[in-house]
Amino acid sequence: MSYYDYVIVGSGIAGLYSALLAKNAGSVLILTKGSIEECNTRHAQGGIAAPIGKNDSPELHFQDTITAGAGLCDPEAVRILVEEAPDRIDDLIKFGVPFDTLDGEVALTREAAHSVPRILHAGGDATGEHIEVTLSRRVRESPVEVLEYCLATQILTDDGKVRGIRALDSRTGLTEEYECRFVILSTGGAGRLFKYTTNSEVATGDGIALAFQAGAEITDMEFFPFPPSALRLPGVSPFLISEAVRGEGGILRNVEGYQFMPDYALQAELAPRDVVARSILYEMRKTGSDRVFLDVTHVSPRRITTRFPHIYRFCLDHGLDITKGLIPVAPAAHYLMGGVRVNTWGQTSMPGLFAAGETACTGVHGANRLASNSLVEVVVFSKRIVERTQETDQAASISGPTGADYHSLSQREALETTSRFNLPNLQSLLWDKVGIVRSGQGLAEAADTLAAWQNSLPQPTDRPSYELGNMVLSARLMAEAGVLREESRGAHFRTDFPESSEGWQKHLVFRAINPV
Ligand SMILES: Cc1cc2nc3c(=O)[nH]c(=O)nc-3n(C[C@H](O)[C@H](O)[C@H](O)COP(=O)(O)OP(=O)(O)OC[C@H]3O[C@@H](n4cnc5c(N)ncnc54)[C@H](O)[C@@H]3O)c2cc1C
Repeated sequence: MSYYDYVIVGSGIAGLYSALLAKNAGSVLILTKGSIEECNTRHAQGGIAAPIGKNDSPELHFQDTITAGAGLCDPEAVRILVEEAPDRIDDLIKFGVPFDTLDGEVALTREAAHSVPRILHAGGDATGEHIEVTLSRRVRESPVEVLEYCLATQILTDDGKVRGIRALDSRTGLTEEYECRFVILSTGGAGRLFKYTTNSEVATGDGIALAFQAGAEITDMEFFPFPPSALRLPGVSPFLISEAVRGEGGILRNVEGYQFMPDYALQAELAPRDVVARSILYEMRKTGSDRVFLDVTHVSPRRITTRFPHIYRFCLDHGLDITKGLIPVAPAAHYLMGGVRVNTWGQTSMPGLFAAGETACTGVHGANRLASNSLVEVVVFSKRIVERTQETDQAASISGPTGADYHSLSQREALETTSRFNLPNLQSLLWDKVGIVRSGQGLAEAADTLAAWQNSLPQPTDRPSYELGNMVLSARLMAEAGVLREESRGAHFRTDFPESSEGWQKHLVFRAINPV
């Protein structure tokens, strides 16, 4: 058994950035279930938001974030985000992230629902790749130990306090325990729960499942946004076509070539992303097609190739010149807004357990995330985690969110399910019943089926079987939260409750009755 000050699970921006700070405070081990660079971070395109522009201010960024969050942001967390963001950007620059510049200044672009240009980017639309490659190189040069292809399978506890991680080396099949003072969960999101997703294969909700099983609190699982436009080409996994493409004049057309968005919203293509995603879904149903088209053929080819070089190249590699032809697109699952509940220091409800990045829920995003606020959230709160671990008094003081509703996973009737349990069926179930447009009945059916599948799970033995178990548990938390929230708000839309309700301006928190 090995001992470290910090065991960090995951090697996306949250894991790598935390490790680079924590190495100055003690010994650090990163466990990651794939290669070091397999993660969602490297797929991030648009950029990272920070109020550093001439006409910008933390107050403006605060207001934009609160507005997007549809009444559920934690104002204290948002205040911290916008005030500390500029310093964290400086840190990334010092680590060597090559943000794009214009006339010697960091170049800023504007994205939907930001009132001014405030998005830093690198390599045009390859921001995540530059961040991931830069930080992973830094980590490799540092004393931080990295174990690749090591899957965390359990959070080890003693009297409710975290003492380490059990992990499976998926190359040897051997299990090992790593003891430590602090665990930082940085396991990313859960997009793989859905049939269509922009997420990397590693996004299977592991951190949520591990934390829940260990006894930590999970919150806001019903909020999962679906960006309107991911490439829909046979045999190609849904590749995100940035929403900024619509901002540059992209027009959405149905399979008959008709520009349909003005029929659904005054702002047409520039309507909020959830409105556009639902409109696309309705239009696909109306025309009996599994896609619509994004048209940028009227935009100057030079503008497209300089503003979106990564998207242009990716499509070209798949036989599609987007300056000349229409881009087939459809919505896809993208980002986990909920997660392991943390306070503004990244502390979970369990002493010794911290969570950072997409697997954590800091309360910054509320019910809907402002574009490009995710990467910045990661760096701001990861830094605070490492600061907190260096303080002498780390008593977990994570008070409940105002007016939170606490739940455990309800016992559901053991249902005779006709659908066989496997990954494609799980992903179809979530896509159909816990996806962009939900209903109470569909959510309850999904929750019943998932409970039945969970009961039938065999003992996990390898990475796929552990991941499947984690996905079923995360999916249950999502479906149950969706059943409970009888309203529509932000990224959660129900046909039987299409409006927001004041009584629901509160969070749903789940915790296990009998933690492992
Ligand atoms: C296509 C796309 C575009 C995006 N664009 C933007 C953008 O422009 N701006 C923005 O702010 N955000 C964007 N996002 C969101 C943002 O990229 C992510 O939220 C962020 O990168 C998450 O970082 P992370 O470190 O938390 O997770 P990840 O980068 O996903 O890393 C998770 C890590 O955990 C590891 N892991 C998971 N489970 C285990 C386990 N059980 N054991 C060991 N290791 C494990 C994984 O292997 C991986 O290394 C985008 C996301 C996608 C998918």
